[in-house]
Amino acid sequence: MARSKTTKQSTVLESYNPATGEPLGSVPVTSPDEVAESLALARRAQRRWASLSPGERGARLKEFSKILLREADDVCARISAENGKTRQEALITEVLPTVDLINYYGKRADKFLKPKKIPLHLFKHRGSYIHYVPRGVVGIIAPWNFPFAIPIGETICALIAGNAVVLKPSEMTPLIAAYARSAMIRSGLPADLFQIIQGGPEVGKALVEAEPDMICFTGSVNGGRKVAEACGARLIPCVTELGGKAPAIICPDADMERTVSALAWGGFANSGQVCASVERVYAPASIHDDLVNRLVKKVRELRQGDPSSFDTDVGAICLPQQMDVVQELIDDAVANGAVVECGGNADSRSLGYFFEPTVLSNVNQNMRVAREEIFGPVIPIIKVDDVETALEYANDSHLGLTAYVFTRDRRKGRALAEKVEAGTVMVNDVMSTYGMPETPWHGIKNSGIGFVHSEDGLRGMCQMRHVHYERIPGIRRELWWYPYSRKTYQGIMKLMRVAFSKRSL
Ligand code: NAD
Repeated sequence: MARSKTTKQSTVLESYNPATGEPLGSVPVTSPDEVAESLALARRAQRRWASLSPGERGARLKEFSKILLREADDVCARISAENGKTRQEALITEVLPTVDLINYYGKRADKFLKPKKIPLHLFKHRGSYIHYVPRGVVGIIAPWNFPFAIPIGETICALIAGNAVVLKPSEMTPLIAAYARSAMIRSGLPADLFQIIQGGPEVGKALVEAEPDMICFTGSVNGGRKVAEACGARLIPCVTELGGKAPAIICPDADMERTVSALAWGGFANSGQVCASVERVYAPASIHDDLVNRLVKKVRELRQGDPSSFDTDVGAICLPQQMDVVQELIDDAVANGAVVECGGNADSRSLGYFFEPTVLSNVNQNMRVAREEIFGPVIPIIKVDDVETALEYANDSHLGLTAYVFTRDRRKGRALAEKVEAGTVMVNDVMSTYGMPETPWHGIKNSGIGFVHSEDGLRGMCQMRHVHYERIPGIRRELWWYPYSRKTYQGIMKLMRVAFSKRSL
């Protein structure tokens, strides 16, 4: 199981296939001077790009989407090889959502970014509107678990909003980002508009220090905290999309078949390396045993192995260190009384990094596996007395990215969803809304600051500027300007009383 992914070499970053250990290629590591140079080139290219309308920019990116459609099979194979996810996951969670996002925003960019009138309720003789101006250069720092959909999706949004982009992909997955840039250049986009810098955290740090006009960071809570601090010191606006510990609350009336299928996919897709993975399941005692039995049966049917095969359900672990993290959390749980219902170990038959899909029962809320982000193929199940206790435990976390509620009662499902402390709560579904660009994606608590996607996510890639103007010409003086006098004072007092008297409210 030997695979070494080099991140510390001074000049070259090598990429390996996590399923086989085979080398895939290498890229030069970007030096701090080159980071500053990339930013300067991007800044220059952005000026011309910003002179196009949002719709024109969307139309230019449509050409990139056409290339992706043509080369989709090859793109899926590249993602699968470098990241370890299955071919089908590469298609449904990376390529398809990116193509959809380009088309979604491309068609609507003019509408979303058109100036917005603000009706003034009191000062009727004046007018106000907001207009959206590209920020300039957006720095994107990305993780390895979705090496295409996350950095390229954010790049598309930043570009459609009129910015240039400097992207630092994860040091674990440098090649797929490089492919995306070359495809964008082939599609006719100016080469300098989208820059890629390669390397580890030190290159990410250099990007922030080069002072782009905005940073979008996706990654761990620790990394996000450091980046947010560095941005704060420079007053650079920053969005942080960080870790998750998604709870699934199963109500006794849940449709068990759908619930179990959703939990299996939510726990093991991308080998559990998803910020929105199902990381803890709360099952009331009345359904607990049935749920465990059904889930274990389903999980035993999953086929783990070669991610490039169309018939594989569960692929490889991308980050080697995750193998130890996952094993440590399982061992700690077992030492404290948890029961391994299936899985529980690294798959030693393979040359690459594979961890068996694992279901743990008899887990309690205080175990590390119930509190820390696992980021691997493990579903811990916690038996609770009732749904109220499940809700209390679900909210007992420092993270709040996504959460899931399962019930046949749609009204109850929504009411319960509103009480869960998470940026997104899905009823009878898991993980899917990242692939719906009209919905916002964001964490609360330590899961992050700000958001991506949705109309407002696109606007967030712009400066929001306010213009205030006169609607009625010829008024020589506003009432509150100099000179002050008793008469004006009394006049304003009278107006205030009329405006805010009970009747006028
Ligand atoms: P990470 O924090 O180790 O690294 C993320 C990126 O930040 C990498 O490119 C890394 O080189 C860079 N980086 C790290 N420290 C930095 C620093 N101090 N300054 C500048 N750049 C720095 O995270 P990871 O292991 O790549 O990703 C896994 C984590 O990402 C998990 O916690 C997962 O939940 C989270 N994640 C969150 C979302 C979301 O949308 N909320 C999506 C995907 C992944």
